[in-house]
Amino acid sequence: MKASRMLISTLKEAPNEAKIDSHVLLLRAGMIKNLVAGVYNYLPFGLRVLNKIENIIREEMDDAECVEILCSALQPKELWVESGRWAKYGPELMRLTDRHEREFCLGPTHEEIFTSMARDLIKSPKNLPMNLYQIQTKYRDEVRPRFGLMRGREFIMKDAYSFDKDEAGLEISYQKMYETYTKIFTRLGLHFQAVLADTGNIGGNGSHQFMALSDIGESEIVYCDDCGYAADVEKATIKLVSADNEEELELKLVETPNQRTIEEVSSFLSVDPKKTAKTLIYHDYQNNKLVAAVVRGDRELNVIKLVNAIDSNENYLELATHEEINSLDSAHGFCGPKDIKCEVYVDEEVAQMKNVVIGANKLNYHYINASFGRDFNGTVCDLKKATAGDLCPCCGKPMKQNRGIEVGQIFKLQTKYSEAMKCTYVNEQGKNVPMVMGCYGIGVTRTLQSIVEQYHDEFGIKWPLNVAPYHAVIVPINYNDEAQQALSLEIYKALKPTNVEVVLDDRNAKPGFKFKDWELIGIPYMIVCGKRAQEDIVELKNRHTMEKVEVTKEEAIEIIKNAVNNI
Ligand code: ATP
Ligand code: MG
Repeated sequence: MKASRMLISTLKEAPNEAKIDSHVLLLRAGMIKNLVAGVYNYLPFGLRVLNKIENIIREEMDDAECVEILCSALQPKELWVESGRWAKYGPELMRLTDRHEREFCLGPTHEEIFTSMARDLIKSPKNLPMNLYQIQTKYRDEVRPRFGLMRGREFIMKDAYSFDKDEAGLEISYQKMYETYTKIFTRLGLHFQAVLADTGNIGGNGSHQFMALSDIGESEIVYCDDCGYAADVEKATIKLVSADNEEELELKLVETPNQRTIEEVSSFLSVDPKKTAKTLIYHDYQNNKLVAAVVRGDRELNVIKLVNAIDSNENYLELATHEEINSLDSAHGFCGPKDIKCEVYVDEEVAQMKNVVIGANKLNYHYINASFGRDFNGTVCDLKKATAGDLCPCCGKPMKQNRGIEVGQIFKLQTKYSEAMKCTYVNEQGKNVPMVMGCYGIGVTRTLQSIVEQYHDEFGIKWPLNVAPYHAVIVPINYNDEAQQALSLEIYKALKPTNVEVVLDDRNAKPGFKFKDWELIGIPYMIVCGKRAQEDIVELKNRHTMEKVEVTKEEAIEIIKNAVNNI
């Protein structure tokens, strides 16, 4: 393609909305263009990358004997009522009504559709196992769409759903997808880690997330170098340090005027924050009640673990207001698990501690020397967020922490949807039994931006060759110079019939301007036709290393052809 015919829309400055490098670069390189919050249009270079990523995913899915279909984004309410998720999914679901008052949603995910499809179309157990997938646009009305394609309200997902006769079958299908995802993200050049994950809204049990490692990642991972345990902090468990064996002291009410936070209280009373417990009150709108959650003072509460413990939904859980706290005969900043008038959930670590500082549910007062079982009670569960230094639940060694971008997740759904939606097959005993399901998602557009996050420098994007919008660009210093134009055209014509995807920059612009554009866009190879054009000598620039070498036109062509043929 000739540059003069292309839609090149590079920008000197990124719009203010962009806060992270990959978002800035996608906008500046003219790969995407914002439409409204969390919704983007894909421009020519971005679309080419997107197609290449999709094709790599497609090749690997096909190789794993998955079957591609394409479903509508528009989904009727009835199927969501059948699965029970119409009421449960929360405000992220984009709901709409047609002119006949019939309700629909724009699919945030497709379990309902694929389960109904399998129920209708898979007639014989001979067709099992079956893994159906699609690459399709999803809608989620995210509270905070941000970071460009990382968290959009419209995004492209590859979603797959496996149907098996039994648990053993699901185990194999799941493992196959784990391996397929590993191949996909490896081919895409991502530095990634697979970690144990919570199952969230999707349900079922048993899940892994694939995390592209990055400091800007919204997910936190803890991992153990020693035994290989790795988990999203939402899911991660830890090995508890053995219980306090100190003597239980007498419970005392002490005055703590205006000391609300753990820092304030522990410094006021001169106790280690580790010997305090904090009590957080939540309003659970799903079950319409207030609950108290207690974790060690220096810890963070893991909201996902609380959601699971109380069988609620993340979207329906909010910190209680001061008035709500007062309604429990407690006081903001002084909440505690003793005698509070709501259900109490106590982290297992707090349950084995002795002589702890807790709020007294009375303005300006705390208790000292409180112990679980003697002074307060509650449902004991795991509520804490694991962090670096906590002990590995498998081998007991201290764990490390990293940040990651969740680019994919796989789940064992088991019979959650097939039972609810009567997706069954007739087994050898002639009985109707539910198919055993798994589901497997890749955030295609999020993956695209994650590649940029991992492959860029101060000049722009450095696309890996196999996903680059074009492999090579020919840049004559001056296109009006006869020798330079002739040589550029000659190289262009030599590369066009090969596998090399090539651009000829025939624009009448300053060389510096052209170089900057292609460095920003991130084309892996640049062939510069300059003052030695008459001798058939060009400069070959490698975008990844920024190295330049003078080579003959034949050498330049060979080097690029070889690189592309070896992808
Ligand atoms: P997150 O925790 O980041 O909100 P999720 O766990 O809700 O994501 P899944 O339901 O597992 O997402 O969807 C499969 C994949 O789709 C995710 O692993 C992620 O890569 C991608 N994805 C999810 N939500 C978005 C979004 N709002 N924008 C872009 N990609 C997304
Ligand atoms: Mg997920």
